[in-house]
Amino acid sequence: MPVEIHTDAVIIGAGISGLIAARNLVQAERDVIVLEASHRVGGRLFSKHLPDGTAFDLGGQWLGPEMWRVTNLVRDLGLETFTQVEMGRMDLSAQPLTEMDKLTQAEWAWFTAKLSWLVDQVVVERPSDTPDAAALDVMSVEEWKRTNLESEYLMHLFDQVVRTEYTIEPKDFSMLFLLYSIRSAGGFEDLIDLEGGNHTLRLKQGMQMLCTKLADQLGDRVRLNCQAYELEHSATGVRVIAEDAIIHAKRVIIAIPPNQAQRIDFDPVLPRRRMKLMQRLEMGSVIKCFAIYDRPFWRDKPLTAIDPDLLIFDHAMDASSSGDAHPALVAFIGGDDAVFWSDRPFETRRRAVLENLAMIYGDEALYPRDYFDHDWMTEAFIGGGYQCYAPPGVMTNGFEELRLPIGLIHFAGTETAVWYYGYVEGAMEAGERAALEVIKALEKDDGKLERVR
Ligand SMILES: Cc1cc2nc3c(=O)[nH]c(=O)nc-3n(C[C@H](O)[C@H](O)[C@H](O)COP(=O)(O)OP(=O)(O)OC[C@H]3O[C@@H](n4cnc5c(N)ncnc54)[C@H](O)[C@@H]3O)c2cc1C
Repeated sequence: MPVEIHTDAVIIGAGISGLIAARNLVQAERDVIVLEASHRVGGRLFSKHLPDGTAFDLGGQWLGPEMWRVTNLVRDLGLETFTQVEMGRMDLSAQPLTEMDKLTQAEWAWFTAKLSWLVDQVVVERPSDTPDAAALDVMSVEEWKRTNLESEYLMHLFDQVVRTEYTIEPKDFSMLFLLYSIRSAGGFEDLIDLEGGNHTLRLKQGMQMLCTKLADQLGDRVRLNCQAYELEHSATGVRVIAEDAIIHAKRVIIAIPPNQAQRIDFDPVLPRRRMKLMQRLEMGSVIKCFAIYDRPFWRDKPLTAIDPDLLIFDHAMDASSSGDAHPALVAFIGGDDAVFWSDRPFETRRRAVLENLAMIYGDEALYPRDYFDHDWMTEAFIGGGYQCYAPPGVMTNGFEELRLPIGLIHFAGTETAVWYYGYVEGAMEAGERAALEVIKALEKDDGKLERVR
């Protein structure tokens, strides 16, 4: 028999967003229950620990100095950051640009200036209010690229930057979504810059530790292996039917990606527009690959410039643990390549990644001490990474409504953030916002009860 629990608020999803919402509700002296479908907390924050305890982040890994919510959380939880080593970055946007002819350099400068100008026009809170929103939204990133670039080389370079940052193909998503997500994350420079950008700092204990520590503080309010699959809601309360538990609550916060939220059986069904929106937002595709070595040999020599078409990944860089205890390289396979390599046996993929690393960093890369990767498409309750993206036509069809409550149902998760959409910082913003909505609503309900008495 499933247990029946009565509480103020039930939160679906124990990623960073759901856990932050729970923490804030508890701080406001509200009862909460957090339901997590997986056997672990953290969601897209997932760290692998080597036998000596060293953590490598299979999911979210970097922080930027502007991300004040995460920075404060790191401090509050007594965790430590360290600075990302820049050496070994093969990203073509940084590397052979200086070797290009003057004409190509000028074309890239013009292209990025135009992109940055468009980014600055975006109304982050309501992207559909951006000048020319409708035209930008129906255009794919691919189409915009082809209209604005002539050089084949620069088209490849742009594809590579896009796949690295978004894990999707330029043909598959809306230009307005690209502009919005760049603006939401601080601008084009912050996106690709290692010094002062969004990829500057790492967490010594691994990013999942943020969630582990928050869950420890919440204790038995967090229920693992507890997938929520049905949600009944009315004007007076909600009832969530989950694995081995039925939760009766005054409010519910759904803190899971939209592609997962649309799998819940809502009774009554949510407005068709919202369901359609959640169905149309698709997760990116990514496999994150680590190779651990005895020494950081790639720092000794200049990188070899490689035709990106020869590589199965778009991006590789130094991923050594704090203090270089475990020198390491990380590579990201994204977009259609990730889908292709997801279907290949682990050993074939391992060999292909190492051979590619050897093309860039030399033959020593063929012989790591350890190799592991994580295919995010195999995560049953997430379905990919880093985030959901909007195909053409969705941004001007209700995208910003994703964060609006429906009756007693509230929405969190990084995909409902205004700033840092798709990042940990955005997930925290969304968790805080949803918790505040619930706290205010419960206070209002308490006030009504007082008046009746
Ligand atoms: C490979 C990769 C690299 C990344 N790199 C970075 C980075 O460097 N910096 C950065 O800031 N961000 C990065 N991100 C993004 C970042 O990890 C996410 O934005 C953030 O962790 C999302 O948190 P969330 O709580 O919104 O969602 P999630 O972490 O997805 O949490 C949702 C949780 O809900 C659970 N769930 C789903 N359905 C149900 C259900 N029906 N019932 C109960 N539970 C359910 C899931 O199991 C999951 O635990 C990366 C992500 C990936 C995958």
